[in-house]
Amino acid sequence: MSATTGTLYIVSAPSGAGKTSLVKALIDAQPQVRVSVSHTTRAMRPGEVDGVNYHFVSREDFLERLERDEFLEHAEVFGNLYGTSQRWLEQTLAEGYDLILEIDWQGAQQVRRLMPQAKSIFILPPTQEALRQRLNNRGQDSDEIIERRMREAVSEMSHYVEYDYLVINDDFAHALIDLQAIFRANQLRQPAQQQRHARLLSDLLA
Ligand code: GDP
Ligand code: ADP
Ligand code: 5GP
Repeated sequence: MSATTGTLYIVSAPSGAGKTSLVKALIDAQPQVRVSVSHTTRAMRPGEVDGVNYHFVSREDFLERLERDEFLEHAEVFGNLYGTSQRWLEQTLAEGYDLILEIDWQGAQQVRRLMPQAKSIFILPPTQEALRQRLNNRGQDSDEIIERRMREAVSEMSHYVEYDYLVINDDFAHALIDLQAIFRANQLRQPAQQQRHARLLSDLLA
């Protein structure tokens, strides 16, 4: 628990660019950063766990939650509904954790309107061929779904201009260092450091 409110980050990328792998590697080394678990109507992929990767719900359940105003933002992506739970987000930020939303550009636009202080990061693949290769290698989507995601990748990527930071995920380790740098720089901002090092500052100024 910390006295300061955490920072909200939005991370978007075309499907297969490496957003989930990069965010996982980032938070594994950063205990003060959490990732929001979205609700989705998409079918579970092999290896995914309900409540960990997503809260997997029926379309009916999703629409009821929407009706009850449970989502800060929601969007239809590749024919499935996705949404961010507002209650959990507010609690986590209030507890002082930095929070990452892995959401698409439509959701990002909604969150920016509601929370203009959010920082947004767009992850790009090095080439279109690499993107297709990664979707194939991941081996979790049918050819038809991969084709659909490739068709929509260019229009998704055209939204990069709306984001504060761009990270190119060519070499994974390099992209991770870039992502860590964004978080680290924010943690070093003067008000956050002032709070973290209150004793040092009062000693130095005595
Ligand atoms: P992946 O990104 O290729 O692993 O595929 P997913 O099916 O997990 O996600 C598909 C798209 O939905 C991606 O663009 C995600 O960023 C987006 N998405 C996931 N969760 C949410 C959410 O809660 N809200 C919104 N708006 N988009 C989401
Ligand atoms: P997203 O969440 O953006 O759809 P994933 O994190 O699932 O993307 O990554 C898609 C696939 O590409 C995964 O199999 C992942 O291991 C692989 N991948 C991620 N980054 C790289 C990289 N820099 N070089 C090669 N493969 C990568
Ligand atoms: P439910 O799916 O019934 O809303 O919630 C099940 C559990 O997941 C509860 O512990 C709830 O607090 C948590 N939860 C609900 N929404 C979210 C969310 O968006 N992200 C995360 N990480 N947990 C959530």
